[in-house]
Amino acid sequence: MFERYTEKARRVIFFARYEASNYGSPYIETEHLLLGLIRETSDLMYSLLPSPTSISKIRKQIDDQAVQGAKTSTSVDLALSNECKRVLEYAGEEAERLSHKHIGSEHLLLGLLREKGGLGARLLNSQGVSLARVREFVGKRPRSAADVVEIHGEDWPISYVRGKLEELGEFAWRLYPWQPSDIVVETSSDSISFDTTLKEDPAFKFVAGGWSRDYCSICNWELTIDGESEHSTGYSNGRIWLCTECYQKFFVLPVEPAKP
Ligand SMILES: [Zn+2]
Repeated sequence: MFERYTEKARRVIFFARYEASNYGSPYIETEHLLLGLIRETSDLMYSLLPSPTSISKIRKQIDDQAVQGAKTSTSVDLALSNECKRVLEYAGEEAERLSHKHIGSEHLLLGLLREKGGLGARLLNSQGVSLARVREFVGKRPRSAADVVEIHGEDWPISYVRGKLEELGEFAWRLYPWQPSDIVVETSSDSISFDTTLKEDPAFKFVAGGWSRDYCSICNWELTIDGESEHSTGYSNGRIWLCTECYQKFFVLPVEPAKP
């Protein structure tokens, strides 16, 4: 069923299922797909949503409105609701319409918005994200092969990647297994800091390994300890991370062909 899906789109479904189990929902509903999209496509979402707080507003509304039951084990293979099945059909149609070979997260977002009655679409609409706007946005993304570069099966504008490379080019990158970092949390606000010397301050509590994931500075690929090798190793300058695919693609110079 998911053969044509990009890795990112598959992960959206994976996290939608995870969210559905956490909410104790018997089915994967459109709001769970929305949470999966927010998690996997933060770059796209931040471009579309009016402010960074929109995401916490959406999460709060889902807490208030979604069906909630006892948490189910994430090993239970929850089925898609009928609304979600339609979202997936629409996503396929949207990819078709744009003559895109793969079904990516942007097509899932378009599909979600086409299922107008679903909570997912209603929440996005309430934040000013309409089907017409996302169609325009996705349509504007460059599509000719010369303007895009593929990372993890998704097309990224070359101009965006070049801008990032200028920022990131000055660092020395080395391959590391990804490891969680210790953090301190300010008890009153839940805000976090990496300055663990603050643990002496009674306003903070120390959380060993509390920073459980980083994202590739170019493509937002998730780096985390319990992922498969592509997710659990990356290149770092000691502070920020690159996924192995971005590093190989953009930082390793192409090998010169051998002279005849
Ligand atoms: Zn990357």
